Amino acid sequence: MASIFSKIISGEIPSYKIAETDDFLAFLDINPNAKGHTLCIPKKEVNKIFDLDETTYLNLMAFSRKVAIAIEKAIPCKRVGMSVVGLEVPHVHVHLIPLNSMEDIRFLNKASLTPEDFQDTVKAIKAYL
Ligand code: AMP
Repeated sequence: MASIFSKIISGEIPSYKIAETDDFLAFLDINPNAKGHTLCIPKKEVNKIFDLDETTYLNLMAFSRKVAIAIEKAIPCKRVGMSVVGLEVPHVHVHLIPLNSMEDIRFLNKASLTPEDFQDTVKAIKAYL
């Protein structure tokens, strides 16, 4: 069965898209640790990050870096943190999270954002891509 992220790639499930290439997609996390929390995924559906072939893994890191640089310019924060978990969705994803404190990387405190907040965040990040 297709993962929820494959359904986002196909357009079956809506998302707040930040960037897309033939092989990768970046979109906002729907339950963000902080405003600007973004997920970068390979379109190829693979469960665990270190099971990716080396080229896809390295290209995912390069894609995530570009998105992270844009997030850091668009969202006030001390830096953008990166985390890979995957316990909830079995489709490789890199979390890019604007950080102001250790709390922001702990996946416990969540930011509550309106649809307008999400749309404004997409616009702000895309302006730097
Ligand atoms: P994990 O697999 O533990 O790394 O976490 C999966 C992440 O995907 C969580 O932060 C969720 O909030 C996020 N997520 C789950 N479903 C969606 C969705 N439909 N759109 C955007 N983010 C999602």
